[in-house]
Amino acid sequence: MKKRIREPREKDRNEKQGKPGDFTASRATVASGRSASGDLALQKANYALSVHDPKLLPPPGAPEIAFAGRSNAGKSSAINTLTGRRRLAFVSKTPGRTQLINFFSLGSGAFLVDLPGYGYADAPESVRKHWEMLVGEYIASRDSLAAVVVVMDARHPLTPLDLQLLAWLREAGRATHVLLTKSDKLSKQAAQVTLSKARKELSTVCPGATVQLFSSLKGEGIDEANSTLSRLAFRKNKAPPKGE
Ligand code: GDP
Repeated sequence: MKKRIREPREKDRNEKQGKPGDFTASRATVASGRSASGDLALQKANYALSVHDPKLLPPPGAPEIAFAGRSNAGKSSAINTLTGRRRLAFVSKTPGRTQLINFFSLGSGAFLVDLPGYGYADAPESVRKHWEMLVGEYIASRDSLAAVVVVMDARHPLTPLDLQLLAWLREAGRATHVLLTKSDKLSKQAAQVTLSKARKELSTVCPGATVQLFSSLKGEGIDEANSTLSRLAFRKNKAPPKGE
């Protein structure tokens, strides 16, 4: 039988502040995933586990904020910037982990989930199918999934594959936040035009989705992303009882 939990390499283990098995520990200690200050505490992120098969996902618990994006869009850099850990998301890029769902525990007890990238030019059909099955099922049925961050290169956002992902998110009713990364590559004016165009298109393809500019290089958009993700992670998902 294949193993569900892949042990981190020695290098990753050295990065970890806690012991292997953090996933369970943090869920048990902070079941709601909310820190005292009500934010995600993205800065205290540690690698927890990797999963290659949706059937082997751990039981749902604290809120999960998942990051998705086309390969090379800047997803790993955005995760590293938001968590303040220079190499955190590169754990997901080590051989053998690129097609896995990688979980990182956060200081709040919530989880940051790095979904495998898509749109690799030379990816065989089997890899594409596995991505669709793994990510599709996670998005469609994961109870503890609070929101999905879709990372797009600001110079060419909303590619056909991004639109396919957004359609799934819309269908599943998932809270969605779009990061238009590498905004430093555009002039201020071009970046604003891109932002308005993306906002307009999103209002049709994924109504309710929010969008912002982001630059890992310049550190732009960090506060906005932090506050949006904290709000999405801890908002009440369930409709209030009638009469409230
Ligand atoms: P991923 O494949 O989506 O995880 O993308 P990476 O985070 O590995 O980034 C892909 C490339 O884009 C790398 O060469 C990064 O250095 C570069 N990159 C990522 N974010 C930014 C950014 O905000 N600004 C600029 N100028 N380059 C970036």
